[in-house]
Formats: sequence, C-alpha cells, structure tokens
Amino acid sequence: MPNSPRKRKSQKPATISPLTAAAVNPNPPNPPPPISNFKSQLRSATYRLIIIIIITVFTQRYRSDVKTFHDQVIPYEVVDLPGKGKGMVAIRHIQQGERIITEKPLLIIPQELREDPIQHIDNKITSLSQEQKYEFFNLSHAHTDIPHDQIPISIIQTNGIAAGPKQLGVFPRASRMNHGCSSAFNAVYSWRENENILVVHALRNISQGEEILTVYFDTKQSRERRREHLLEQYKFQCTCKVCSLPPEASIASDMCLQQITNLKQQLTSWESNKISGKEAVDIVRSIWRLSEEEGYWSERGQWAADAVHVAAAHSDEDAVRQWGLLAQEWFGYELGQDSNSVTNMHPIVENPRRSPTWGTRERLNVGGPEL
Ligand SMILES: [Zn+2]
Repeated sequence: MPNSPRKRKSQKPATISPLTAAAVNPNPPNPPPPISNFKSQLRSATYRLIIIIIITVFTQRYRSDVKTFHDQVIPYEVVDLPGKGKGMVAIRHIQQGERIITEKPLLIIPQELREDPIQHIDNKITSLSQEQKYEFFNLSHAHTDIPHDQIPISIIQTNGIAAGPKQLGVFPRASRMNHGCSSAFNAVYSWRENENILVVHALRNISQGEEILTVYFDTKQSRERRREHLLEQYKFQCTCKVCSLPPEASIASDMCLQQITNLKQQLTSWESNKISGKEAVDIVRSIWRLSEEEGYWSERGQWAADAVHVAAAHSDEDAVRQWGLLAQEWFGYELGQDSNSVTNMHPIVENPRRSPTWGTRERLNVGGPEL
C-alpha cells in the first residue's frame, strides 16, 4: 500500500521581520536553552539518530531477507503469454531437481462420484473462503458457451490433477503451468499422499526467463495422436517445441517415442519369464539411449528401479548398487530427494540383499548401467 502523503508545514511569509513577527505572534520566542538543557537535547537528538539508524538498518535487512526468501521459495512469476493465456516463467535460474511448488489442494473430489457432480462441487465451493472462491473462479476452463452452473465442473475438468488413484485436486498455482510434450516439458508434479500436498520439481535446469512447462498426459506417442488428445481434452493446439519440429525431425521423434513405448512393453515380459534377466536389463539400457536421443528425461528413475528389481532377482549385487544409485539420482530430480522413491532405495543400495526380489531367480550377471 502506498504511504499516505505527508501534510506540508505551512510556511511563514518571508516579508515579516522578527520584530513584526514577535508583535504578530502572541507567543514570544523561546529563550536560548541553558547549557545543561542543551546537553540533554543533544543526547536526546543522538538517541533519536541512533534509533533511526537501527530502524533503517533493520528495515533494509528485513526487506532483503524477505526478497531472498521470496526468490528462494517462489522462483517464478505468472505472466500473460501471447496466444497461450497465462503461463509460468522462471524469474531466476532453477536447478535440476529443485522444488518449484509445494501446494495443498484448494478442493478435492473423488474421481468417481455417485451423487450429482454439479451438486457435489457446488457444496465444496460453498465451503471455500471468499479468497479461495476467487482463486477457483479465476482459473481458466476449456469449454466455452456452457450453462453457468456447469462452469465449476469445466474448471475442474480443465485444471484437475490426480491426487492419488481415486481423487482429483484443484491446485491454482500448479494449474498455471502450461503443457509441453516429450522433451519440451521441464517440470513434473507428483502427489504426496501422506503429506496431502502436490509438489513440482525441475526435471532439468531451467534458465531465467524460460517458461516452466509440465506434462498433462503420457506424451510417448506420435504428434498426431498427442494433438488429437490435447484438442479433445483441453481444446488447444499444441505448439510446444516438439510439436513444432519440421516434418523430418518430427517423424524421427515420433519413431523414437514409439520405440520407447514398445521396449517398455517388452520389459514387462520378464515377469512372465518370456525374456531373460540379461535381455531385460539390455532393454533398460536401450530405453535410456533412446531417451537421451529424444531428450525425454522423465521416468528414468522408474526404469533404473526396474533394472534394480531384475538385477536383485538374479543376485547381481554390483548391478543392484549401480542401478540403485541411478534410480535415486533420477527419482531425486523428478520426485524430490525426500520422496519415498528415493528413501526406499537407500537400504537396497546399502545392502542389495534387502531387495524384496533378491535371489528369486537363477544367478545371472545382468550388468550395470554402462551408459
Ligand atoms: Zn506438444
């Protein structure tokens, strides 16, 4: 809030001499203070000066602390982006793995509702504070020309984020992130059931001024299919850097993503003994190489954890340790160093025999990442 303007002291007319002024002024001027009074006034003036200096220094330090805190906690700003509506832009360099957002849901609803969804959502909105209602209705929604009573459900359809397998949450801050496909997104959100919060981490380094983009669905599919899905579900044409590739590069990207999807499917056949442990771990290495080629860094923690699972079953201690460290590193970037996925890997890296699958298959040297 701006400071209220200070009232100016009225100035005496310059033409009145001290004598005339004394005649005009019923109060005679004060006599000069005695020396002792003068000393006391000087002391009091010095104290005032000291207090002013202390307050100034404190205020400046406080302001600088608040600024530092603000910059550390909120490393982005929400701005209007041409053709995209609002978006989130980094206001400083964001380190890979850094937490960008921690947010509690504004409201949460079950993914499957037995009662009338409009009524259920209305009840939830009624219980919100005025400020929360403003935050909710300030969110955009994809469906235009709909009856007024369906706007809340449209807001939830457009902005809702899965909060566990059975619930949908509305997170106004995280909702400001736009979407990017494959290598275009640089931030990933994850729900923490125990803490009842949504966290967003930087999947890669994000430069100051760069838009923070997340991913709304599994984009390991062709550009055509991605665009169809986004248009149907979110009513926009994706113009991310992967969707904007020239035809030849786009075809290469589509093939790369399709190969990753196929290999991921093949990897599951190790569970039913259709491929060996060595083949399974080879598949993980191939997926990793393709993800490097495409620039698709998401899910790496899970792929490395899959290799840990296989290596432990075949009692390959060194491989478990190496894949385990890699899983911790990439889970750390995507889900946070304090995530369950990272902490659950600690005892296994320390002692591979603690792995739940240890020794459940024949002994085999499946090998480490060797990337
Ligand atoms: Zn795209």
